[in-house]
Amino acid sequence: MNITEYYSETDGAAVYRGKMSLKQNYTIVNADESIYRYVGVNSARPVTVLVHPDDLPSFKEAMDKLSDGTQRLILRFLGSDGNYRYMYAIMKYNGRMVEDFRSIDIELMDIMRIYCEYDQSYNAVLKYKKFMSASDKMYFEYSYGDENITIFEYMDGRSVGRFKENIHTVMKKVSEGDTYTFKQKAEFGVLYECLTNFSDSIELEVDGVVFGMSGVRLKIKGGVLYRDDDRNMMAAVITKYNIDDDKEEKYYMTSYALDSSKGFYNKRAISELSRDMIAEANGKDIYVIILDIDDFKSFNDNFGHMMGDKVIAKISEVIRNVVGNRGYAGRIGGDEFFIITDRVQNEDELIYMLKTIRKNIDWQFDKIIKSVEVNLSIGIAKYPNDATGYDELFKIADKCLYIAKAKGKNRFIIYNPQLYASVVRSEDDKYNTVAKLSDNKYQICQLVYEVISDIRKNGEESVRGNLDKIRQAFDIDGISVYAGRTYEKKCSSGVYFIEEGDTDFVTRAEEDNIFDANGLFAINKIISIKEQSPKAYEKLEKTGITGFIMVKFEGENGEKAMITFDIMKRLRKWSEEEKGLLLIVAKTVAEQYIYLHS
Ligand code: GH3
Ligand code: MG
Repeated sequence: MNITEYYSETDGAAVYRGKMSLKQNYTIVNADESIYRYVGVNSARPVTVLVHPDDLPSFKEAMDKLSDGTQRLILRFLGSDGNYRYMYAIMKYNGRMVEDFRSIDIELMDIMRIYCEYDQSYNAVLKYKKFMSASDKMYFEYSYGDENITIFEYMDGRSVGRFKENIHTVMKKVSEGDTYTFKQKAEFGVLYECLTNFSDSIELEVDGVVFGMSGVRLKIKGGVLYRDDDRNMMAAVITKYNIDDDKEEKYYMTSYALDSSKGFYNKRAISELSRDMIAEANGKDIYVIILDIDDFKSFNDNFGHMMGDKVIAKISEVIRNVVGNRGYAGRIGGDEFFIITDRVQNEDELIYMLKTIRKNIDWQFDKIIKSVEVNLSIGIAKYPNDATGYDELFKIADKCLYIAKAKGKNRFIIYNPQLYASVVRSEDDKYNTVAKLSDNKYQICQLVYEVISDIRKNGEESVRGNLDKIRQAFDIDGISVYAGRTYEKKCSSGVYFIEEGDTDFVTRAEEDNIFDANGLFAINKIISIKEQSPKAYEKLEKTGITGFIMVKFEGENGEKAMITFDIMKRLRKWSEEEKGLLLIVAKTVAEQYIYLHS
């Protein structure tokens, strides 16, 4: 070990270490420069002449025992200056035949040099331990052999252990512990993935609490050390700093923000996180990236939804691993993913990142399903160049994704104003008009109150207009009202998907007995009703509905009413508060068509 990589070579022949191969009569057939320099003019003479006569018997004895394996001994060896020096010799057959002789390798090391090297290394270690004691850093080691994480620091030139545990034990403790926040879990999850998936270097942050140090954040930066061409350990320096604890907890730091695919943010979380990132960016480059699986419907048709779900989980994992600590990733729709990154240096790195995602996906599915391609189309917008607001950036990226699809899929499109501005601007700006429940909880409650009062006051006439308002505020694609003994369609707002007279769909849903005690049935992903209600599923799949809430009521005289709130071609999770508010709205609407018992 030579930490300083600095020492003097000035004392010539005395400081050396070399290797030679021998042929018949123990003469040198080949040697490195250092050996030739040391033996000089004697290089043509048998080695037995160069070994000190007193050491010759043990040298010969070692030669005779080579078939038993490598032999080691200390002997005196003649230098070109006529002096003998003590050498540590390692001798073994090298597996080659030279002129019918089993060739032998001899490695020689001047034992003074070994001593000097040791001495230098030892001094270097002492010197560095002093340096390390003087800093307030901690040191992180992960051993690929026993998979232990060790954290230590130096005090007065001695290392002091701060933490030591098997990485899987820590992972289990953190992922299963109730006391850790989503963010703490997710951050440690990234470290875990990096170490267990053999990243060559790491640069990330975790909360100290996962290693039993509360109130501090730890920035870990380091790289892999190899031994004998194998990964030996990840060595990293830890910088710690105090947590700014008066910041309120964001939604995306809670466990609710997690998509079912592990460590991945859901749509609401990733949007809020992105808004915050953009608000704090100060002009620093940020890329907003939307990814959509190509022809995933037919994948599902060919391989089944179970396999489809696995593909989604696998792609989530790949995206998260590749993005690593360069940004955040999430799932924003059935087969749609999102990345926001503020740590790619330039477009080249971005493209490299996207290509790595593609390669890793290919690699994953090569192993699982042969002859099947899983491809992605990708749209990209850049802050601050393309837009400075999240909604606008999202819209541009989404448009680019659309262009990628139109151009034949399996590609990415980075927004270029010269080429695409007209396409992007031509669509009306639906993202900005939608008031999201998460952003305006109280306004929405107020709106629901006004809608209910208005319907009660103005009756059937006012239903349609009020449903439009609800649809906008709740980000719903279609609301329909059916009433009467056979569920005739009464009114609808937005997308209306059931052809006139085809309302037996609602009776089917009723037959399947899927409603809860309040008469409410909510579905985030229609795939989940495939087994329970195959007929209803088939119908919905054709219409493009991906999620819905249905509420049914029965009047005093046996008439019925059903109100459906539909989501088209995207993933939209219903929260409990949304279900509650929509139930009240539905009941108020139903009252206009049938007489409900109170
Ligand atoms: P395109 O190339 O235009 O994207 O075609 P596509 O077939 O992928 O169509 P699109 O993105 O519009 O539709 C997404 C499909 O993904 C619809 C549904 O069949 C499937 N899907 C959505 N969510 C899930 C899910 O959670 N699991 C499974 N297995 N399939 C899903
Ligand atoms: Mg798709």
